[in-house]
Amino acid sequence: MDDYLIRAITTNKEIRALAVKSTNVVREAQERHQTTPVATAALGRVITGALLTGSLVKSGDEIVLKIEGTGPAGKIVADANQEGEVRGYIQNPKLDLYQTDSGKLDVAKAVGAGELSLTKIMRMKEPYKGSVPLVSGEIGEDLTYYFTASEQVPSAVGLGVLVDTDLSVKAAGGFIIQLLPDAAEETIEMLEKNLENITSVSKMIEGGMTPEELLTELLGDMDYRIMARKDVKFKCRCSRERSFELIAGLGKDEIEETLAEQGEIEVRCHFCNSTYNFKKEEVEELIKELEAKEKEIPEVDTDQIIIEEKDN
Ligand SMILES: [Zn+2]
Repeated sequence: MDDYLIRAITTNKEIRALAVKSTNVVREAQERHQTTPVATAALGRVITGALLTGSLVKSGDEIVLKIEGTGPAGKIVADANQEGEVRGYIQNPKLDLYQTDSGKLDVAKAVGAGELSLTKIMRMKEPYKGSVPLVSGEIGEDLTYYFTASEQVPSAVGLGVLVDTDLSVKAAGGFIIQLLPDAAEETIEMLEKNLENITSVSKMIEGGMTPEELLTELLGDMDYRIMARKDVKFKCRCSRERSFELIAGLGKDEIEETLAEQGEIEVRCHFCNSTYNFKKEEVEELIKELEAKEKEIPEVDTDQIIIEEKDN
């Protein structure tokens, strides 16, 4: 079964509900970043949360979901758009195995205390950023708190990743349920009861449950209408051309220094772990071009790249 996301509204217009199966997306993230199980679970939850949140913005807009905790996981970032495209990384992909007393992957311990932020990047508008302190580090609970505290939308978020014994991803998925302003007391009570019965989203996905069936489980007897259905995928925007621009942004001195030391420059994309290598001649050609044009050196978001130190 392919990965996809659905966005629905109950016919009584009291609840907005989203559900996604993201097994293949998280599997690709695990393979690209070679994450260990706890890192896979943490990154997979952030990626799944980003896909769900990203489907709530307008077409052409994007969101960046960032978890900055004090734990060994470090920063976890995923950005997604309304088209169902997501990419993401975790600062420390090689986390040791943390398990709870019941044997579950201990994401909270890996994340620690800190902050969750959500930035909405909108066309023709200033970006909007909201942030909340992490309440548990489990990501799903933190996103729940974000919607309720920062956006004043009472919500319930469930995110799950199941990692196999061979480190690969067995299942991943999630949901967001949001109460709309007209939600009746009985609706809220019924929803709370249904939510109590949801023990593990990833197990439900593993068992073959579709996003539609997941929503039926959550919404019980309430009828709902599907407003959107989107395939979701891991997709990065980096390219060789863009990497070349990033090198130019380093400045002449640093370029020459790196070339003298390594003979070439390697650019690695944080988000997808792709590497782009540029030979000395190519880079020198670039410098010449830049000098000839006396071009302004483009502004670079250095957060997005790291230049690899290479052993010769
Ligand atoms: Zn990339």
